[in-house]
Amino acid sequence: MSTDTRHATPDTAAAGGSIDWFGHLADQVDFTVMTKNVCKIYHMGDEDIHALRDVSVTIRTGEYISIMGPSGSGKTTLFNAIGGLMKPTSGSVFIDEIDVAQLDANELAWLRCRKIGYIFQSYNIVKVMTALENVTLPMLFGGVPPDEAQDRAVAILGRVGLGDRILHTPKELSGGQQQRVAIARAFANKPAIILADEPTANLDLHTGEEINQLMKDMNREEGVTVICSTHDHRMLDMSDRIVWMRDGRVEKIADRSDVEIEIDTIEEK
Ligand code: ADP
Ligand code: MG
Repeated sequence: MSTDTRHATPDTAAAGGSIDWFGHLADQVDFTVMTKNVCKIYHMGDEDIHALRDVSVTIRTGEYISIMGPSGSGKTTLFNAIGGLMKPTSGSVFIDEIDVAQLDANELAWLRCRKIGYIFQSYNIVKVMTALENVTLPMLFGGVPPDEAQDRAVAILGRVGLGDRILHTPKELSGGQQQRVAIARAFANKPAIILADEPTANLDLHTGEEINQLMKDMNREEGVTVICSTHDHRMLDMSDRIVWMRDGRVEKIADRSDVEIEIDTIEEK
């Protein structure tokens, strides 16, 4: 059985569920993620915190999108809504035209395991496991036979430049290397979408740029849609488009080619 999930359904992944993921004319779907008027309000005592206000974005298949915004602007909340980790107060999130709110628990679990790969600021790899085990684990959860999972993990760790580090645990790896393990893990199940939430925030500028370049290369080679948040303008270079967020709103969306001067100006300051 093919283990490429990008055009698979939950049924073919043997995880149960009845939806037809690319039920109609899969090849004609040219967007991967669409949010429609997504709002999220957190209630804290007497206070309502509007983490997302009417966020509508459409992300095309295969795009590398940067979500740019200061701390507290709603980036993580938006990622959680897209990844099905949080239910919006109102509005809808569509992944390949499927309304995430309509999924049952099995389908949602399948979405998180097979369709989406996560990369976090703090790497979040398992400390007591080797790089190889960390990358193999999600494939085992996803139903890939152990031998195949291991072979694929070795290959993908080689791809991210860790071929000689596969038996190292996180404490034996630098921050940049740990983030490479996290990237290998996120790509392991051949997801359609990578959600990278400030993946370079804990890294020095040079290492951060290397990590972004790696994600960009994987985006191109694998055709995976990458959505990457950052609060550092210097990390925007790889993007096809940039979404600026402020106070829970989308402030602006622009093609990378149209914002060159702006980025240079900011860098010169
Ligand atoms: P960012 O990732 O851009 O820093 P967040 O999405 O984490 O922003 O947060 C957006 C806003 O929502 C902030 O004001 C934050 O304090 C608030 N917020 C986030 N998560 C919660 C939560 N679980 N409970 C209450 N408020 C939250
Ligand atoms: Mg955040």
